[in-house]
Amino acid sequence: NASLAELDPEVAEAMAGELGRQRDTLEMIASENFVPRAVLQAQGSVLTNKYAEGYPGRRYYGGCEHVDVVENLARERAKALFGADFANVQPHAGAQANAAVLMALMNPGEKLLGMDLAHGGHLTHGMKLNFSGKLYQVAAYGVREDTHVVDMDIVREKALAERPQVIIAGWSAYPRQLDFAAFRSIADEVGAKLWVDMAHFAGLVATGLHPSPVPHADVVSTTVHKTLGGPRSGMILAKQEWAKKLNSAVFPGQQGGPLMHAIAAKAVAMKIAGSDEFAERQQRVLAGAKILAERLSAADVAGNGISVLTGGTDVHLVLVDLRNSQLDGQQGEDLLHEIGITVNRNAVPFDPRPPMNPSGLRIGTPALATRGFGDEAFTEVADIIGTALAAGQSADVAALRARVTKLAQDYPLYQGLEDWKLV
Ligand code: PLP
Repeated sequence: NASLAELDPEVAEAMAGELGRQRDTLEMIASENFVPRAVLQAQGSVLTNKYAEGYPGRRYYGGCEHVDVVENLARERAKALFGADFANVQPHAGAQANAAVLMALMNPGEKLLGMDLAHGGHLTHGMKLNFSGKLYQVAAYGVREDTHVVDMDIVREKALAERPQVIIAGWSAYPRQLDFAAFRSIADEVGAKLWVDMAHFAGLVATGLHPSPVPHADVVSTTVHKTLGGPRSGMILAKQEWAKKLNSAVFPGQQGGPLMHAIAAKAVAMKIAGSDEFAERQQRVLAGAKILAERLSAADVAGNGISVLTGGTDVHLVLVDLRNSQLDGQQGEDLLHEIGITVNRNAVPFDPRPPMNPSGLRIGTPALATRGFGDEAFTEVADIIGTALAAGQSADVAALRARVTKLAQDYPLYQGLEDWKLV
């Protein structure tokens, strides 16, 4: 019964280093968040020991009476939170959820229509090296070159020309909301099923700060760890008519035994997501993103050839366009990393640069909102980023790093979590 630090000091040291990094820097990767201690406790629990293939009440293993309670809680909370008829909480991650969705909705060789990866779509929406691009025919829609916004007339034209079996609405890098009702009517017109992947904006949907896809889509998939703020994992919601096919696509279709410790953590996360405190946090997420978009549109930044795609944001992230800047995406990411702010470089639509060194940055606010940031702190971090990007390679790294350190100290993270034994 040695502790982690005693048994495996190398891993313990790396984990302590990561805790230190999370505390000392400002996390602005749009897909990341900080889970509460209760979620860490659920995930680091004895539930990791239990095999529970099947579903509550219909397992292929004995001794599932307690994990059945946990999975039922997760399912019921997911349904209540999003107003869905059906929930499957077993997908290990977003990609597994998406594989199961496609398996349930279509056959290999049939055609899907999703958002182009280079315009903000996700790998699982038809990228050629992903299962979705290998098993299915793929057609894609993108954003307009003049506005960088999805134009539903173009989506409709594509759908009519391509006649896909499944239409996907959802994204990993897009700063605006999609029109789910318009997607539904196009899907109906061409006889396709509509799948919405709300992985990025699920936390906003849960709190009514983003339109819900649930009434419109046949199936909705999500991750639990982005705006939703829970454990790294996936989940599927759907109309009841899809329940049987989806359950069978998750298990035994895509997975074996469910990760019951992760499912317990999902249940906890969904309980939190229904709270007033969570709703207030999501409001700060949105307000912070707007503050950031405004600062990055200011004259000193714009004068250096930097702009914000679509001119702003309706969600938790901002896409910075560096196509006319002296910085490329890698240099922008590295510069912010040097001053203690973590973001990721990202392709912009119609990017002339290659994916490994694209012309954009994706910057998100969920993790900092979880840390407690409100308008004032977001104004300060937006100014730090704006000042850094405007100055480019001549930025005063030490001064900017000092401002980041001050913010990190003013908004401490995981207080009391000095030792992994506390988890
Ligand atoms: N769907 C979307 C829209 C995403 O952005 C992501 C994650 O980046 C996923 C699915 C996949 O989630 P995971 O990384 O948990 O497999």
